[in-house]
Amino acid sequence: MDETEPDSILVVTPHPDDSESAAGGTIARWCAEGKKVVLVVCTNGDKGTSDRSVRPEDLAKTRESETLNAAKTYGLADVVFLRLPDQQLEDNDEFREMIVRQIRIHRPGVLLTIDPNRRYIRHRDHSITGRVVLDAVFPYARDHLAYPQHLAEGIEPHKVEEVWLFRPEEPDEFVDVTDYFETRQNALHSHVSQVGERSEERDERSRSRLAETGKKYGVELAEQFMRIKVGR
Ligand SMILES: [Zn+2]
Repeated sequence: MDETEPDSILVVTPHPDDSESAAGGTIARWCAEGKKVVLVVCTNGDKGTSDRSVRPEDLAKTRESETLNAAKTYGLADVVFLRLPDQQLEDNDEFREMIVRQIRIHRPGVLLTIDPNRRYIRHRDHSITGRVVLDAVFPYARDHLAYPQHLAEGIEPHKVEEVWLFRPEEPDEFVDVTDYFETRQNALHSHVSQVGERSEERDERSRSRLAETGKKYGVELAEQFMRIKVGR
């Protein structure tokens, strides 16, 4: 972290729990430091269960309320649900316009999203979200002739300064989350339908993963990212 880090952050997550599991300590830290963090949740997560008795529409509702609990735990400024169906994201104009709109409305300095570049086994929603968000940042959100309907609504173009990718294939940045482990675990376990209730055993597993990353950077607990400065 350095002084160039602006105070307004937009987090775009494919599924409701991805940002918590990959960057929850960092989000907790940014909120505690007084940054304005807004979360955009792309899909409604309505396929995320192995329980055959759960109806997709009920699961979607559950996952929204879990996300709002996580948001409260962190102290997020806002949560936006795009409510696209789980496992059906496409790299198309409709999705891109939705992301560009959120960037232009919230005007972040830093945008945090998922790395689209995992090889072979990957969740299609993850690679599409990462790719569409990067395209939305540059050049679409910047250029007034991209989605000119926004201008007509009074929504101005916006240049994002940096994109941070979580679950990075080639990490080059870390955040020390040692002091934010509690908040991270509480936020993560708000997603009870996905990760279950918080327990000592689960905390231990999380802690050892973060510690492994921390060891790389010389701190107790860390999360890592790829940090991209956006050209003009
Ligand atoms: Zn996911």
